[in-house]
Amino acid sequence: MLNKDLVIIGGGPAGLCAAKMAAEAGQSCLLIDRNRLLGGQLIKQTHMFFGSEKQFAKTRGIDIASKLVDDVKKHSDLIEIWEDATVVGLYNDKVVTVLKNEQYVKIQTKAIIAATGASEKVLAFENSDLPGIYGAGAVQTLMNVYGVKPGNQIVMVGSGNIGLIVSYQLMQAGVKVKSIIEASPKIGGYKVHASKLRRLGVDIETSCTIKKAIGTEAVEKIVTIKLDENWNMIEGTEKEYEVDAVCIAVGLTPLTNLLSMMGCNMKYVSELGGLVPITNHSHETSIENVFVCGDASGIEEASSAIVEGYMTGLIACKKLGKTHTRYGELMEEYNQQINNLRNGPFGEKILLGLKKLGG
Ligand SMILES: Cc1cc2nc3c(=O)[nH]c(=O)nc-3n(C[C@H](O)[C@H](O)[C@H](O)COP(=O)(O)OP(=O)(O)OC[C@H]3O[C@@H](n4cnc5c(N)ncnc54)[C@H](O)[C@@H]3O)c2cc1C
Repeated sequence: MLNKDLVIIGGGPAGLCAAKMAAEAGQSCLLIDRNRLLGGQLIKQTHMFFGSEKQFAKTRGIDIASKLVDDVKKHSDLIEIWEDATVVGLYNDKVVTVLKNEQYVKIQTKAIIAATGASEKVLAFENSDLPGIYGAGAVQTLMNVYGVKPGNQIVMVGSGNIGLIVSYQLMQAGVKVKSIIEASPKIGGYKVHASKLRRLGVDIETSCTIKKAIGTEAVEKIVTIKLDENWNMIEGTEKEYEVDAVCIAVGLTPLTNLLSMMGCNMKYVSELGGLVPITNHSHETSIENVFVCGDASGIEEASSAIVEGYMTGLIACKKLGKTHTRYGELMEEYNQQINNLRNGPFGEKILLGLKKLGG
């Protein structure tokens, strides 16, 4: 069994920023990510980010990832990094089990920061398991990380920011986006993204869902159907699209199964994306010295994951006895930044979610 003071699970923006703050406070830590590349979702984001200048707005997601990874690698004396290593078990005595190089490694640690991000929500419909039906994360990984087009003719299901941005990226890659369908009566994402797509001739159909996919070896067609105000399918409104790919972008849910496994008290809060750990004002779960930040604590954006990561890193290290020399000043600054971010268009929902969580 290895012994560590602080284990950070997840090398997305939240985990990277927590690690940076730990190192600045003089605290050693082990940063673990199951991916071969650090950066979390940012490594798939080729678009310029929205948000606040302080969290790299107008910079491409992949460039934000490089900057955050560089910040961490500057502290190689204090931050140990395990890439391509998956945490498969967390236990309430703070033992962490990691699958690394096909071996299980056990670590006893004093504190844990869970920054595991989110997983995609799925939709159940007839033949939803046909090849060619992807989640938006897979589509982005194929296109933007590996340079592979997922298909030539696609329908996007979901008009949140992810659905809209990925539709635009598909068009840039030369894929024909035949339609974007949205179950709710309103487009979910920013108007600026929707308007850009409409100017390019993409139809966005609200109150509409996917009824079934048709195909033998892979998806060949899909059938969509309109929904009434009670979200019931309106028979007779079906439309058929010939496609070789379908992209499902119906939202994200916090990846918290490890924290559940450990025995943290959890609560289902729909505004935060699903089941989340109950935390106090210090991002600490019901188990002492086990912290959570970023999308794992509630679905927001990279900007808030960055700020939460910094704050959680500062708080966790202070509890371990390593207080950053500028602790008070930095906490004040980050508190102000997170409040400003939550004053934005999607902030109301997050604030309501946090109120329901009681944190
Ligand atoms: C299409 C799209 C567009 C977006 N656009 C914007 C935007 O313009 N502005 C903005 O602010 N935000 C945007 N976001 C949101 C942003 O990318 C996320 O909110 C942010 O990445 C969350 O950061 P995180 O560190 O919490 O999680 P993630 O980035 O998801 O990182 C989590 C990390 O944890 C690792 N991990 C998970 N489980 C384990 C395990 N068991 N063991 C080891 N490692 C594990 C994962 O491999 C991953 O690297 C966008 C997202 C998408 C999909």
